[in-house]
Amino acid sequence: MKFVYDFTEGNKDLKDLLGGKGANLAEMTNLGLPVPPGFTITTEACKVYLESGREPVALRDEVSAHLDTLERGMGKKLGQADNPLLVSVRSGAKFSMPGMMDTVLNIGLSDSSVEGLARQAGNERFAWDSYRRLIQMFGKTVLGVEGDLFEDALDEAKEAKGVAVDTALDADDLKRLVARFKEIVRTEAGRDFPQDPREQMDLAIKAVFDSWNTDRAKLYRRQERIPGDLGTAVNVCSMVFGNLGDDSGTGVAFTRDPASGHQGVYGDYLQNAQGEDVVAGIRNTVPLAELESIDKTSYDQLMDIMETLENHYRDLCDIEFTIERGKLWMLQTRVGKRTAGAAFRIATQLVDQGLIDEAEALQRVTGAQLAQLMFPRFDTDAKAEQAGKGIAASPGAAVGRAVFSSKAAVEWAARGEKVILVRRETNPDDLDGMIAAEGILTSRGGKTSHAAVVARGMGKTCVCGAEELEVDVKARKMTVPGGGVVAEGDVISIDGSSGKVYLGEVPVVPSPVVEYFEGKADPAAADADELVKAVDRIMTFADGERRLKVRANADNAEDAARARRFGAQGIGLCRTEHMFLGDRRELVERLILAEDKQEQEDALAQLLPLQKVDFVELFEAMDGLPVTVRLIDPPLHEFLPDLTELSVKVAVAEAKGEDVSDSQRLLHCVQRLHEQNPMLGLRGVRLGLVIPGLFIMQVRAIAEAAAERRAAGGDPRAEIMIPLVGTVQELEIVREEAEQVIREVQETSGAELGITIGTMIELPRAAVTAGQIAEAAEFFSFGTNDLTQTTWGFSRDDVEASFFSQYLEKGIFGVSPFETIDRDGVGELVRLGVERGRATRPDIKLGVCGEHGGDPDSVHFFHEVGLDYVSCSPFRIPVARLEAGRAAT
Ligand code: ADP
Ligand code: MG
Ligand code: MG
Repeated sequence: MKFVYDFTEGNKDLKDLLGGKGANLAEMTNLGLPVPPGFTITTEACKVYLESGREPVALRDEVSAHLDTLERGMGKKLGQADNPLLVSVRSGAKFSMPGMMDTVLNIGLSDSSVEGLARQAGNERFAWDSYRRLIQMFGKTVLGVEGDLFEDALDEAKEAKGVAVDTALDADDLKRLVARFKEIVRTEAGRDFPQDPREQMDLAIKAVFDSWNTDRAKLYRRQERIPGDLGTAVNVCSMVFGNLGDDSGTGVAFTRDPASGHQGVYGDYLQNAQGEDVVAGIRNTVPLAELESIDKTSYDQLMDIMETLENHYRDLCDIEFTIERGKLWMLQTRVGKRTAGAAFRIATQLVDQGLIDEAEALQRVTGAQLAQLMFPRFDTDAKAEQAGKGIAASPGAAVGRAVFSSKAAVEWAARGEKVILVRRETNPDDLDGMIAAEGILTSRGGKTSHAAVVARGMGKTCVCGAEELEVDVKARKMTVPGGGVVAEGDVISIDGSSGKVYLGEVPVVPSPVVEYFEGKADPAAADADELVKAVDRIMTFADGERRLKVRANADNAEDAARARRFGAQGIGLCRTEHMFLGDRRELVERLILAEDKQEQEDALAQLLPLQKVDFVELFEAMDGLPVTVRLIDPPLHEFLPDLTELSVKVAVAEAKGEDVSDSQRLLHCVQRLHEQNPMLGLRGVRLGLVIPGLFIMQVRAIAEAAAERRAAGGDPRAEIMIPLVGTVQELEIVREEAEQVIREVQETSGAELGITIGTMIELPRAAVTAGQIAEAAEFFSFGTNDLTQTTWGFSRDDVEASFFSQYLEKGIFGVSPFETIDRDGVGELVRLGVERGRATRPDIKLGVCGEHGGDPDSVHFFHEVGLDYVSCSPFRIPVARLEAGRAAT
């Protein structure tokens, strides 16, 4: 196996082997761009090192051979005393990863070669500046010396001289600093700074390999679901110098604005500087456009190169470059990160430029980005006082009064106040407060902290780990940088998309993208928002490509109408339980308490017209499109009063000598229906089979509503769905009764209603016996929420807030199985259900309802297993449409 590739040997498609940085350095080299020569040690070499604890035997010789070639090409030897070749050793994995080793520049400098470099360059200051940088970077990243020690020594040197910037230190100052740095290395690392250039290089390479397994890198990989065995590549690149004087410098650039997508000159430049000086903020950079007046030749060349790169990568690129005495060098490029809005705009701009086609444009955006664009946001024109910044954990813009305990959150919210729950970190005891709050702010913890996980699950805005904020829960206040204090009740605003925290109320504006989906913004108008135009075009591409239909979970006409505007092709799940709440509760009580058939029928007869009205409205809103109505699902006791409260009430009434016989009966009934595990108790089809007449009443309401719509000239397409079926026998009984009722209604109304009957597949047994169940079902809808609960054996309500954050932290889950379908477990059951269902009934209609229907990853899975549609909440419909389109291209 070959472990080392010259930059001339690789290309951009070899990221697995050469890492992102190495592959792109090779690509630029082959494009003929000015890249300082060098070579890349492969991820394979790193893997061998990580597995066996030592470098592959052949590596040393291969490195020597490549170094030799490099030295001959450059006409100087690594660290050679009179004219040294210097190199940088740069880490570069397939995915860029914080926590990996930083780059070490200027390798090859030593007490003797620093003199040679000074003479060669005719610049003593430059040589000693480079040397002190080497000892600093090497000491910190290879020898593990605390970086602050060097920074402090540098600050002391500046102070001693009374200057503010490093460029004001002269050669003598820097010589003294080098001596000081070497001393620091000796005491802290217990060894001298190595003078042998090859030893420097080898140690740096090894340190890059080792950095793959630092705790930070491991944690990051788990969180981002990057496999742990990829390994990192190492790039050895000959040095070019931006710190040779004012005719030199270093900069970063984007080929277009990563915030808006606009083409133009975006970037920063710093004269007389090296490496990360630009981003480290040690001196003030100038906007890239000013380079034109500093060094027009290099500027023009850079603009040319940027165009070449854009056309070549057919995407926004970001770039690192250095100018050495008027000569431009390219040090890095990659396809650049961008904001969600820019992603859509860039994708359509590239289509217009003819660089990519529509199918490719779809791959350049994601449902997650679209979802981000749909959150309301803070008005960017408004004045806002930023108090701090944390991690953007769950998007949205929330404004409210700061409260510092869950109890306070609940109390304030009960008074009608909007609150932001502020904690150092949250734990399961904070759940009530989190529910009551508009948003959650913590000063500790990352993206998988309790606050972040639970907030995302609830769709609530959350900023976590805002470490500069000092939260004092006992004193009910928070101190912000600069000393300001936010007391309980003070209004703050938090932005879950940027992580920013503001004092006072920042005005919120609705997202233009939602206005567009609502039909309130016309993308064809001359003055239409550019983002809206881009989103409209991408959605049109997606709709043209996708095979999956997208339906909505909606229980009322209003939601149905919105869903339709958002592009829903029907309702995949109409829950009927809310139809039994509010003032209808009393009727349900009467139904349950009924002592004889007559009382029961009376109660049902009163419920029937109420249900019917609900359905008429729904069918009207979804005229011409399928509406799947799920018969009542949750346990009956949910419709009855709370056991404890009722017991107290009865006891009190009794003590007062009132007539309590009715309440007593209700109490007995509530006691009888009380369950330890309601989720696994009397619910779904079980309820329908045990309470006579309940399902039938619902079926009649659906059928009569359909008949009424038909009579009014409408086109109702009702589908009746039986929940929680575990065996075909359950379904057969319900089906028979339902068909009977539908026939009756058809006869009375004289209309053929075309109502179909199907079932949810939400129990493992149902998935496994789907072949039998399909005998009695015209359609399946996979209820992946319950299927996840019953497959894993945990209830979402109980576990998400208790141990999920720890599971994520430990890497047991990459993501909550309630958020993204667990392909290996729950997903396999879906696959089985699809196969067995279709084997019995080839034309069976297959869909999914439940949160997963609107989750990007899950949508791709449902496309793969061949479902006909996904159903999700109205707001997720555009996301599902987009992802279904992406899955199909
Ligand atoms: P990162 O992944 O953190 O960007 P890099 O390997 O790109 O790390 O290097 C850090 C900095 O050092 C960058 O500004 C880069 O441009 C600069 N740099 C790296 N190699 C060289 C080199 N051979 N000559 C000059 N500057 C270099
Ligand atoms: Mg870095
Ligand atoms: Mg870089």
